[in-house]
Amino acid sequence: MLGKYSIGVGDRFGRQGAAQLAALLQALDAGVEITPVWNKSFREHSIIGSTPAQTRRAADAAVRALDWPLPYFVDADHVSLKTVVGFIDACDFFTLDVADYIDKAAEAAAIDNFVEAHRNLIGSLRLTADDVFDVTEEKLRAAADKYLFAVQEAGRIYRCILGRKHGPFVVEVSMDETMTPQTPEELLIILAAIADEGIPAQTVAPKFSGRFNKGVDYVGDVRCFASEFEADLAVVRYAVDHFELPKNLKLSVHSGSDKFSLYPVIRHALKKYDAGLHLKTAGTTWLEELIGLCAAADGLAIVKAIYCAALERFEELAQPYATVIDIDRSRLPDAAEISRWDGEQMAQALRHDQGCPHFNPHLRQLLHVSFKIAAELGNAYLHALDLHREIIHENVRHNLFERHIRPLFIG
Ligand SMILES: [Zn+2]
Repeated sequence: MLGKYSIGVGDRFGRQGAAQLAALLQALDAGVEITPVWNKSFREHSIIGSTPAQTRRAADAAVRALDWPLPYFVDADHVSLKTVVGFIDACDFFTLDVADYIDKAAEAAAIDNFVEAHRNLIGSLRLTADDVFDVTEEKLRAAADKYLFAVQEAGRIYRCILGRKHGPFVVEVSMDETMTPQTPEELLIILAAIADEGIPAQTVAPKFSGRFNKGVDYVGDVRCFASEFEADLAVVRYAVDHFELPKNLKLSVHSGSDKFSLYPVIRHALKKYDAGLHLKTAGTTWLEELIGLCAAADGLAIVKAIYCAALERFEELAQPYATVIDIDRSRLPDAAEISRWDGEQMAQALRHDQGCPHFNPHLRQLLHVSFKIAAELGNAYLHALDLHREIIHENVRHNLFERHIRPLFIG
């Protein structure tokens, strides 16, 4: 069973598990238990050419090396019925991604049955003192039209795993990779459908309002996010009390890394509702590798080579992430300019320090999605990581603990 707080870590090349665990051990020393979950999606594995078994080996090795004393998981992140089978042996956490099935119609009879079964939700539903929903039959039916088929698809993936997997596993249902956010009322209806489908979801990842671009801060109205997030927490609490769902069900925020401006409001809301959280922020670690490499001449040469190749292959690299990046190409320094930069300049452009005048969010987003180039460099890249292991380890640990774990879970 997944603990109250958990964090989706993991890294592109399976080298930073120990550094990430070092950050979680620091949290443990500060009295906060956070369960590590090494997450890696089919998309990421196919871009890199890695396998779920490699992620499992890296996680197990890190746990042994640091004597990590608590549970940990390996997450088949964003899997579908087509991709899940390759993850079943190595993983014990499955993120069932059914965003592509939103808006597909379930059978009319199934929708009618769903509306009948949940007629008791219709009316004025008081979730907390602040959160009162007015659910009408039209809203119930509209949400079923929009989401019931997607939840049924999650059921198909879940049963596929159940039929093949020996031993317990954690299930997450995710609908975050879509353009339209789910309202808290819709989330309530989705959770009712998840319970009906018999999926023992321990985490659920809705699409929240605003932009969750890769590697950079939240773009949107933080106050609107805060009230939506709190209403979602109230929904989860209500759903756990009223539907057949695991008692530890919690929200999962697929942050796309580094949503620093949201951490204080998320922390406030978690305290107010005494709620747990799963935060996925794995991608930030790959950029810390690059920042660490900038400190040495040979490492800087590799970072520049990756960036220059990324400029030339922009469309190819950006395309799989089109919905989660906003890069203004006119703000990307060209190869000639980069060639004049020293390591400190490169690191400042890349490091996510919004107070630094040299920070460039366009360059950061581009490098965030350019790990394919590092993968193509193969041993040259991995060798550089090994050579500069210490500084990278320190960057990864410091970034994860000071900039993510402390503001969100410790305060
Ligand atoms: Zn996601």
